[in-house]
Amino acid sequence: MKKTQLARNKKKIVILGGGFAGVKCTRKLESEFGNNSEIELIMISEDNFLLFTPMLPQVASGMIETRHIVMPIRTICKKTKFYEGRIKNIDPHGKLVNLWGTADKRSISIHYDFLVVALGSETNFFGMADVEKNAYTMKTLNDAVLLRNRIIDMLEQAENETNPILRKSFLSFVVAGGGFAGIETAGELMDLLLDARKHYHTIRKEDLRVIVIEALPMILPGFNEKLAGFAKEKMTDRKIDIRLKTAITSFDGNEVTTKFLVQNPKDPIVEPIIDVIRTKTLIWTAGVTPVNTIKRSLFKTDKGKVIVNDYLEVQDFPGVFAIGDCAMFLNPETKRPFPPTAQIAEAQALIAAKNLIALIKNSEKEKFEYHSKGQMAIIGKRSGIATFLGMNISGFWAWLIWRNVYLSKIPTLDKKIRVFLDWTIDLFFDRDISRLKLMKREDGKEYKLLDEVDDVW
Ligand SMILES: Cc1cc2nc3c(=O)[nH]c(=O)nc-3n(C[C@H](O)[C@H](O)[C@H](O)COP(=O)(O)OP(=O)(O)OC[C@H]3O[C@@H](n4cnc5c(N)ncnc54)[C@H](O)[C@@H]3O)c2cc1C
Repeated sequence: MKKTQLARNKKKIVILGGGFAGVKCTRKLESEFGNNSEIELIMISEDNFLLFTPMLPQVASGMIETRHIVMPIRTICKKTKFYEGRIKNIDPHGKLVNLWGTADKRSISIHYDFLVVALGSETNFFGMADVEKNAYTMKTLNDAVLLRNRIIDMLEQAENETNPILRKSFLSFVVAGGGFAGIETAGELMDLLLDARKHYHTIRKEDLRVIVIEALPMILPGFNEKLAGFAKEKMTDRKIDIRLKTAITSFDGNEVTTKFLVQNPKDPIVEPIIDVIRTKTLIWTAGVTPVNTIKRSLFKTDKGKVIVNDYLEVQDFPGVFAIGDCAMFLNPETKRPFPPTAQIAEAQALIAAKNLIALIKNSEKEKFEYHSKGQMAIIGKRSGIATFLGMNISGFWAWLIWRNVYLSKIPTLDKKIRVFLDWTIDLFFDRDISRLKLMKREDGKEYKLLDEVDDVW
């Protein structure tokens, strides 16, 4: 009897999303409430692991083994009850989170007293259905595995192809987007192609084409011009073709159509320059958008992201916080939203956790102020750029700093060691070019819509 009463009086903190923001916030809350019998921590996420996205391009290039960049939630948030499930909707008036039912699992609702929304983002195709249908993406572990298989497949097909036009299109890879994901993917892709080429006797170095298409006038926005310029120059030296001020308008699986963005699109005299690139592989990293659960929610949103106040609380719903890629928080200096990065997601997670603790303990809340610890990106062939401790660093040292910093950020020792070993092995041996035909493109979701909720937990 006593036990049931205690369970009923327990305050439930529910965290939605097991990405950088959700995990960081949960771990902070665990350190405060982990042994508190009056507080229950619950996390709900679609995948039962944290995906370490900065190393995703290295999984696609075969440098790191697939499972080495994922950390099971149960091993890193040990004092939290975990539900693997897809969130259908959030009812902030009834304080309920409703999950989809799967073929075998019942659909359930989970009640909360406090809520942290950290549902991240998904790939944005800007309404281009043909691109969405035909392009490869770089957001999930599945994406990285599929892309690696695709690259190897293209090399296999090109090796024995006698039609020169078809062969060229097999060996041309277009990356859409010159941000973190696009540039790191392009760099890794070129490394893989050059490494794998040794085993394909008819493919010459000059046959391989990697083209990056970026709509802005420079790659890697967020870095200063000098560093971004260095990255562009280095990549161009490696025969990666970077096309700036260019937008992709369509991809039918055989041809990418691009449009050069002229200075004054209203000027009728200036004709937009249209180009066509023959390729079988477009890798789309050109933008993210919040997931539909957020867009459809009752929270006030801007560009699909949940609007939060200085304390990261959601407007009109005290006790509800939104953090990471799905939260709209304007940088007070630029009056523009912060970019979607893991660093910002984690910084917000810590403040949201602190403010939740303050709410429960009736103490003072803290405003979110972001102080960047620096930024870094790798661009392939043991080179990178970094702003670190106020210094601008480029080349090998930046690459080394990247490796050290990101290795230290992997939350578990076993995965740190596994990644380190993968990197070490890569120094001495060629990449594995076996193509594993195990995974398919995810065409439909396996979740089914249930009209009624079976249970409220
Ligand atoms: C290839 C790549 C490289 C990157 N490199 C860097 C880098 O070097 N440095 C950097 O700072 N940032 C980098 N980023 C960006 C960084 O990954 C994101 O900014 C960060 O993951 C945001 O964290 P988040 O917790 O807000 O969202 P996410 O990490 O996306 O987590 C969201 C979670 O919510 C879950 N979820 C979503 N919808 C539902 C639902 N309906 N039901 C249940 N669960 C759901 C997802 O499964 C996921 O677990 C990179 C991103 C990519 C794709």
